[in-house]
Order: sequence, then structure tokens, then C-alpha cells
Amino acid sequence: MIFIAGVQPKTRRIEETARTCPSCGSPQAFLKRIDHYLSVFFVPIIPIRRGTPMLSCENCGAAVTEADQAVGAEELQGVRRCRHCGRILDQDFAFCPYCGTGTE
Ligand SMILES: [Zn+2]
Ligand SMILES: [Zn+2]
Repeated sequence: MIFIAGVQPKTRRIEETARTCPSCGSPQAFLKRIDHYLSVFFVPIIPIRRGTPMLSCENCGAAVTEADQAVGAEELQGVRRCRHCGRILDQDFAFCPYCGTGTE
């Protein structure tokens, strides 16, 4: 018998109300959380790590954490965000420090 175990992320929607996406302005952002589960045969069994709640947009794919949203709205103008994970980047970063995506 082949025993396959691993860690699998599982995205949970923790709020059913759609919010306005801070990235594209479309009202299709949902509050979600990615929990990590120990999985056996690709079936999540035991939760091992609880993720941070984030706003995930179904329109543009941006993922914004609650901490990111604490930034003032006027500061968001001209702020560079990672096109992969949507996090705020410093102006001179060539790669996203969160997910490693190149910013050019
Ligand atoms: Zn969006
Ligand atoms: Zn990123």
C-alpha cells in the first residue's frame, strides 16, 4: 500500500459578504483565510496552521491582508503592489519579498 501524506493549503471563505476590492475597485472581494492541513491521499485531515485573514478579489486576483488595509487610502495611490500576491512592495524591490515574483 502506498501511503501519501503531505501538507495542503485549503482556502476558506470566512465572510459571505462581498467587499470592494482595494486593488481594482470591483465589489468582488471576499474575506478568506488559507489554512494548512496535513493531508493523506490528498484529503485534508488535521489543521496544522491557521492563515491570516485576507481580502481576495475574484475579479483581479489581488490578495490583501488586514494589515495592508491599515494603510491610508491616499497612500495607496502610486503604491507598487506585487502582481502575483498583491502585497505592497518598496519602490526599489526587483522581486517580491513575499512570493519571489519579479516586479518588472
Ligand atoms: Zn480586484
Ligand atoms: Zn508577491
